[in-house]
Amino acid sequence: MLKEPVSLSMLMDALSYRMPMRVTAVRYFCRMKYPSAFPVCPRCKTSMEREYQAYCDRCGQALEWKGFQKAVVIMCL
Ligand SMILES: [Zn+2]
Repeated sequence: MLKEPVSLSMLMDALSYRMPMRVTAVRYFCRMKYPSAFPVCPRCKTSMEREYQAYCDRCGQALEWKGFQKAVVIMCL
């Protein structure tokens, strides 16, 4: 039973988190003590600590890692 009316856009938004989005960018941090690259969440754009995780730990977006080897590297300034 639905407690509250849900708009279609809210429903679509909730469903879209479960649809895996491709990770297409990697952010390279060169100013760290040990420079390293982190994958970027396609939804919330935060860098993630680990590669090949099923979901973004920030926004919960399901992630797709197919083609990750071709991801664009965002170099630090
Ligand atoms: Zn995210």
